[in-house]
Amino acid sequence: MEERIERIRQQLHEHSYKLTPQREATLRVLLENEEKHLSAEEVWLLVKQKAPETGLATVYRTLELMSELGILDKVNFGDGAVRYDFRSEDAEHHHHHLICVECGTVDEIHEDLLGEVEQAVSDKFRFHILDHRLSFHGVCHRCIDNVDLDEVSKPKPQM
Ligand SMILES: [Zn+2]
Ligand SMILES: [Zn+2]
Ligand SMILES: [Zn+2]
Repeated sequence: MEERIERIRQQLHEHSYKLTPQREATLRVLLENEEKHLSAEEVWLLVKQKAPETGLATVYRTLELMSELGILDKVNFGDGAVRYDFRSEDAEHHHHHLICVECGTVDEIHEDLLGEVEQAVSDKFRFHILDHRLSFHGVCHRCIDNVDLDEVSKPKPQM
């Protein structure tokens, strides 16, 4: 974690930003909860435990800054909250999500798996792909044995 913070400190520095104590507290909360996809408010509630004087606006600006610098990606799982997700340092594209309609868990797939699809899209539509978002909505491995799959209702389409 310290190395990761050091690299992000460097990235901020390259863009003339400092890793202030409040930004660092925000970053630590994100790293400690890396796969939880926290919203700005959830991050703030945890940051306040480390740095009680930190306001929501400060946390929000830090999250926006790190999104602009490509350290974080914003994701939306259809519940109306913008959530923040680390961009994998060595991955070219954003990872995928498996969203369980039963328990609400969001799991991550860190393999891209889209090589053939990306090739087909770029050939057929002459489109150069920079990134993508892929979410699967369904029933996770924890729930699959406890539900009648014919009874599970599909989630409403989201924007
Ligand atoms: Zn994720
Ligand atoms: Zn890809
Ligand atoms: Zn589940």
